[in-house]
Amino acid sequence: MSTRHDCIFCRIVRGEIPARKVHEDDEILVFHDINPHAPVHFLMIPKVHIDNLYDAGPDHHPVLGRMLGMAGELARREGAEDGFRVVINNGRVGRQEVYHLHVHVLGGPEPLGPGMNRR
Ligand code: 5GP
Ligand code: ZN
Repeated sequence: MSTRHDCIFCRIVRGEIPARKVHEDDEILVFHDINPHAPVHFLMIPKVHIDNLYDAGPDHHPVLGRMLGMAGELARREGAEDGFRVVINNGRVGRQEVYHLHVHVLGGPEPLGPGMNRR
């Protein structure tokens, strides 16, 4: 894997593009989605570039676990106190737009829509 990527989320990690940060540590960055789909909508990304879950190998398991492990605490802190949804879009069929793995965290206060296309 290359060490430098010019994808938009790598540029946010490097501070080249501003973002409203929720949390940052040595391997994870969390920031608000620029186009929120819910009252609470932030993205959790590993600082290391991975396109999506197809590329997640054993080396990535710890950071993936840490992201899920801190989602509830951050959701509550951001005001989603009565439930939230976690979404990871992967590839064309998953309608992924930014090819740097990211966990969407979406929350209320009111219940969200069905969340799956019912077509
Ligand atoms: P995807 O469809 O790839 O799962 O979702 C990508 C998400 O990234 C979208 O919800 C979009 O609004 C968000 N996004 C795209 N560009 C930026 C950006 O420059 N800054 C932030 N904060 N979010 C972005
Ligand atoms: Zn990247």
